[in-house]
Amino acid sequence: MNQVKVDAVINAARDVCKHSYKGLTKNRQRVLEILLMQEQPISAYEIRDKTHETIGLSLRAMSVYRALEFLESMKLAHRVNAANKYLACKSLSAKCQHQSSLFLICKSCQRTAEIEAPNNIIQSFYQHIEAADFLAKGSQLEVITLCNHCKQAMHTL
Ligand SMILES: [Zn+2]
Ligand SMILES: [Zn+2]
Repeated sequence: MNQVKVDAVINAARDVCKHSYKGLTKNRQRVLEILLMQEQPISAYEIRDKTHETIGLSLRAMSVYRALEFLESMKLAHRVNAANKYLACKSLSAKCQHQSSLFLICKSCQRTAEIEAPNNIIQSFYQHIEAADFLAKGSQLEVITLCNHCKQAMHTL
């Protein structure tokens, strides 16, 4: 994402956070900016290193985690549990609902995509989850799979 787009998203994000405790503080904003500039999810420690590299800001890992926690609670960023990494929400906008996000993670290169799954599919997923006596609400769906690029690379071996 280029700087102009990043700025636009940051403005939208500021609006989303307007009524939250302290809003989009400088640290929170910087962490979000770093996430937006990545093609792929990154870890909290990588975020810390990048804020140092790009703007010379030394954040403690704890501060990065706190900022990420906040961004997650605002649905501006997501934690990909399977990879223990973070990414900016694909559909960053003030009206984003995120009821049916599905994360696809390549087991070979860890490329990750956030896609919108049709609601009826998610609902039927949830029914199966609940039938197994687990809590469906608020669960995050992550599918470990193989991206096309890696699939092709395997075929040419
Ligand atoms: Zn999202
Ligand atoms: Zn891959």
